[in-house]
Amino acid sequence: MNIIFLGAPGSGKGTQAAMLSKELKIPTISTGEALRKEVELQSEIGKLAKSYMNSGQLVPNEVVIDIIKNRITQSDCQKGFILDGFPRNIIQATTLDHMLSSLGKKIEKVLNFEVSEEILIKRIAGRFSCKSCGEAYNRYFKLPTQEGVCDNCGSSQFENRADDNEATVKNRLKVYHESTFELIEFYQKKNLLVLIAAIKSAPLVFEELLEAINSPKK
Ligand SMILES: [Zn+2]
Repeated sequence: MNIIFLGAPGSGKGTQAAMLSKELKIPTISTGEALRKEVELQSEIGKLAKSYMNSGQLVPNEVVIDIIKNRITQSDCQKGFILDGFPRNIIQATTLDHMLSSLGKKIEKVLNFEVSEEILIKRIAGRFSCKSCGEAYNRYFKLPTQEGVCDNCGSSQFENRADDNEATVKNRLKVYHESTFELIEFYQKKNLLVLIAAIKSAPLVFEELLEAINSPKK
């Protein structure tokens, strides 16, 4: 099955993609990763992509699409793939459709992981971690058992990422919603979109996800 995962930063879709990939034995394809690999291999397309990156330009759509094409024609994608983080807009979605149909393939499900903005902000802006062992915590959802002491190593030193404050998180979400609004509509019209309420714990979200994957049509 060929699947697209959509979801804002903090929606937990990365975790779900990894779980589903294991369950269905199909790979998760991240365009960033596929691109880095081509650059590393110094393939023709990798060199082309790198020339754009070196001059500070975005890698054009057609190049990204060719890289995805290379990736999904590899043998581990025979049973399908999960596209995570691509497409990001309608132009990319349309180009993707054309490329897939040239291979006799198509997208069969688009899963949109929905979490309220309030929760997303708490999930991201509430993050902090132990300075000595890196154990992850959250001010709203996962405090150390004993206040100010790391559960894992006993350290009392914690830190958080500078770009995880509420204002930058809000801005990241705004950009995300503006760019994906049309995309969601696009897949809704094709009757491919399934909403996943991603507010629950990861195992419960995964149950809902499997149900959506196994149901023949919405
Ligand atoms: Zn620690």
